Amino acid sequence: MEATSLRFRERAAGALENAQLQTALAGIKVGWQAGRARAAARLPEFEQLRDLGKAIKDHTLAHLDLYLEAFEARVVEQGGKVHWARDAAEARGIVLELCRAAGARSVTKSKSMIAEEIGLNAWLEANGLRVVETDLGEYIIQLRREPPSHLVGPAVHLTKDQISDLFVEHHGGPRIEEPAALVGEARRILRQRYLEADVGITGANFLIAETGSAVTVTNEGNAELTQGLPRTHIVIASLEKVIPTVEDAFTLLRLLGRSATGQEFSAYTTFVTGPKRPGDLDGPEAFHVVLLDNGRSAMVGTAFREMLRCIRCGACMNHCPVYLAAGGHAYGWVYVGPMGSVLTPQFIGIEQGYPLPNASTFCGRCEEVCPVRIPLPRLMRLWREEQFRKALVPPTARWGLRLWGALARRPFLYRLTARWAARALRLLARGRGRLAAAPLAGGWTGTRDLPAPQGGTFMDQWRRRRR
Ligand code: SF4
Repeated sequence: MEATSLRFRERAAGALENAQLQTALAGIKVGWQAGRARAAARLPEFEQLRDLGKAIKDHTLAHLDLYLEAFEARVVEQGGKVHWARDAAEARGIVLELCRAAGARSVTKSKSMIAEEIGLNAWLEANGLRVVETDLGEYIIQLRREPPSHLVGPAVHLTKDQISDLFVEHHGGPRIEEPAALVGEARRILRQRYLEADVGITGANFLIAETGSAVTVTNEGNAELTQGLPRTHIVIASLEKVIPTVEDAFTLLRLLGRSATGQEFSAYTTFVTGPKRPGDLDGPEAFHVVLLDNGRSAMVGTAFREMLRCIRCGACMNHCPVYLAAGGHAYGWVYVGPMGSVLTPQFIGIEQGYPLPNASTFCGRCEEVCPVRIPLPRLMRLWREEQFRKALVPPTARWGLRLWGALARRPFLYRLTARWAARALRLLARGRGRLAAAPLAGGWTGTRDLPAPQGGTFMDQWRRRRR
């Protein structure tokens, strides 16, 4: 997928004027955001569970090599094969070879962010394969030729009316508006595709070192049909998805559903362990796991290793005021919202992704709700420091920050300057209490008035109150 993150501001401005998008995004607050709050309140040990989730991921990352080797050994014992891919090109090549070896013409896929990260669909299609997404949201955006706009709800940016129009355009027939009937129509079409598929490709929410299992979580049962019906099942997952034991998987699953959608558990959770065995009624004849690195092992020894704890629940974006206004497509690459603002510069380089760590108010809601306690604002701040070092920040902002830094190191001078600035702003407001324009504040006053400081600087007011 071509990265367009440099156009974040322009795309976010367009998103704010898109009434349909704003309606669709408003649904996240009443749906998933409120659902998470209810689910967390109902579970007394939720906060301890978050600590445990963080500890499991930290422990695994500290011994990643051991758990990955253990996972591979278990997969081989069960009759499967593990393929190691250093980067996106290697992973695409491996998947294509596996499809060719299976004599495949048609491939079904359940939702996988890793497949998005490596641009798998476009690659397989360019090589003559028919690829059908089976997750309803992914199916919808595949028809629209769009990338996902959310980790959990790839089509969350669309309204029901837009989906009705889309189905008329692609399926023909009368316009359906009833949600259940729309789902029924997609199901009718997808059932046939499942039966025709030679290869099924799924992602994995977790890989279990103890058993060699891949865990998939869906609400539609599409991963089960994708992996169970074709002759070959390919799991494509990144290195950090490995965890030690089945018990750890259940701890993280208890966090995942609650954090993502407010569900205590997703409707379908499946542990896939190897290919079909003698006596099994169904299942694939061949089972492959493609393990993608793509820069992750290099993150392990850096401050960004904390990002590898991410279990892709989407809670950070569901609670981010910037994401909820701009939508996922503004971020211009696969990963969106606060987690995308940290991950995207890692994958495409800070030069191509520098607007993203700035797309945050640093309100801290993302960190407050992250089930594995990733310090997202701190990681975004690290990227901002990198922008500054690489002179990617405009000269005015750089000089402004330098000046502020120099003052902040001299508290007396800082207080004096702040008092002087507060007085100057009060004078400019001429008793109206607000300013329609102010020097260096065009970004603020372009859309709203700037309140003039009342009662002195913050520090003066603080001191007075303490007295
Ligand atoms: S960063 Fe945290 S909240 Fe965001 S998707 Fe990952 S696990 Fe969920």
